[in-house]
Amino acid sequence: MTLIRLLANLGYGSRKAVTAMFREGRITDAAGEVLYADDRVAHSVIHVDGEPLDPPAGLTLILHKPTGYTCSTKDSGRIIYDLLPPRFMLRSPLLASVGRLDRETSGLLLMTDDGGLLHRIVSPKAALGKIYEAKLAEDLRGDEAEIFASGTLMLESENTPLAPVRMETLGPREARLELTEGRYHQVRRMFVAVGNHVNTLHRARIGGLSLGDLPSGHWRVLGADDLETLF
Ligand code: URA
Repeated sequence: MTLIRLLANLGYGSRKAVTAMFREGRITDAAGEVLYADDRVAHSVIHVDGEPLDPPAGLTLILHKPTGYTCSTKDSGRIIYDLLPPRFMLRSPLLASVGRLDRETSGLLLMTDDGGLLHRIVSPKAALGKIYEAKLAEDLRGDEAEIFASGTLMLESENTPLAPVRMETLGPREARLELTEGRYHQVRRMFVAVGNHVNTLHRARIGGLSLGDLPSGHWRVLGADDLETLF
């Protein structure tokens, strides 16, 4: 791949804009030596405006999504890409969210440009557990854990029952749930089905991967050992 195409695919600009960046001497090696578009150099050598080049295709991020952001590339309000460097939205292949969290749900969101990995994570075969913490409008009745674990709960306008969900009570109006499916607004609709309402919802974990001390609104690149923790 030419350097111009590489930088364009990483979202640094159109081919024309990247060509101009080479002409302006903004693409260098680590020592500040100017690189040219037809140079043959390793990815790790390339710097743009003095900063190392973004990771190549095969990038996976963990994002601590705050409430109020939509998992979409377009929306009239705030979107998750607003939390990343602007060029990340222009990468090809696209850096997409692995499943979605509702706008008003916070917590762990994975983003990747690796289609194989994305399918592995969302595949029903993997049945990766996703842990959610819900704060509720009403006190728990006491029978919710049994209903959710039964594997017979049918959500409105669906025709197959939910797979069993494990629920742990954290307080009179607080619960932790482990889901292996990801149906539309699943946790919120499950609590509607038992006469309650979710006030706040947070995803704390996917598989073996947690947010750790990653602050809300922040992200980091996932390494191979993180991915091992995930599965
Ligand atoms: N369940 C929901 O209701 N919302 C989410 O964002 C995730 C799971």
